[in-house]
Amino acid sequence: MGKKTDKILEDLGERLKFFSQIGVDFIPSEASSKDSAYIPLKEQILVCQKCPLSKERKNAVPGEGALEAELMFVGEAPGRDEDIQGRPFVGRAGQLLTRIINAMGFQREEVYITNVVKCRPPQNRTPHKEEVEECKGYLLEQIDLVEPRVIVTLGKVATDFFIQSRQGMAAIRGEFHEFGRIRIMPTFHPSYIIRNEGNKRIKRMVWEDMKQVMAFLGKK
Ligand code: URA
Repeated sequence: MGKKTDKILEDLGERLKFFSQIGVDFIPSEASSKDSAYIPLKEQILVCQKCPLSKERKNAVPGEGALEAELMFVGEAPGRDEDIQGRPFVGRAGQLLTRIINAMGFQREEVYITNVVKCRPPQNRTPHKEEVEECKGYLLEQIDLVEPRVIVTLGKVATDFFIQSRQGMAAIRGEFHEFGRIRIMPTFHPSYIIRNEGNKRIKRMVWEDMKQVMAFLGKK
């Protein structure tokens, strides 16, 4: 077995040990069936070679968080820090995203965070249509598995994945859209907020979007 599989099994072993230490000797079948579908999906992403982005990556970045999450955040693609650590949204934009999640009354571990494309595009360029197409199945499987009630799409690439619209973010954001039974709330990407740090209106709009999500999920 590969090193990555060993690591996944080791993580699983640690979690089971933790459960037994706190006296939990029964894990609901939904959680275990989600885990047993998630582990091979994650493994598949980690070794994926479906598109040229795989040649340049240090690590693929499958995503992380609670498999039972009601709330999912979807970004564009890993950046430099994410590529190094193999985790989504851990750089500057990620720190801002974490602050937003906390301000909404959630811990990062309670939501699920991922990207449309699982490998870093060179120089953080926008992923090509073909790359999104090759990676598409992974995100769809993650959504099927987690079954979130709401997905917040961060920026245009993530929003375009779910909503066919020629409009820009300013026009699409601010209201829920539907993706099957899931509600989609498009909002500005944290990197865009950082790039426009002086523009209070952008921050205010993002917070208005998040307040709608909180109200729908019964938070605060
Ligand atoms: N930007 C994204 O879209 N995703 C990340 O994981 C990090 C930065």
